[in-house]
Amino acid sequence: MSEDCLFCKIVNKEIPSTIVYEDEDILAFKDINPVAPVHILIIPKKHIPTITDITDDDFELIGRMHAVAGKIARDAGIFEDGFRLVNNCRSHGGQVIYHLHFHLLGGKNLGGI
Ligand code: AMP
Ligand code: ZN
Repeated sequence: MSEDCLFCKIVNKEIPSTIVYEDEDILAFKDINPVAPVHILIIPKKHIPTITDITDDDFELIGRMHAVAGKIARDAGIFEDGFRLVNNCRSHGGQVIYHLHFHLLGGKNLGGI
């Protein structure tokens, strides 16, 4: 828990969110400002600021977050057509919230990078 972290507050239910998946270590909720028909954020409950702050202890967690992305995609009906999983890292990567999160995007053809 980091005191002034928005996503820690969402984890602690101090700020409401539309949760689509939750387990002991992972939370997924709808992005408040979707850029695709399906736009879900997948976060660890543990406060990890960026993808570069992942340690050896987090490897299983990060792996499970990817498995959860597939499950959510299936539940959201975008599994067959496919989707994009994005991490924005630091300023040039466009990261605004410094609590690790993957954007799960789909529901339309997103084209190539
Ligand atoms: P990033 O730019 O990768 O740090 O992405 C942060 C994302 O968090 C953006 O897509 C925002 O729309 C989203 N966001 C910000 N506040 C909230 C909130 N209260 N509930 C859900 N999503 C949020
Ligand atoms: Zn946090």
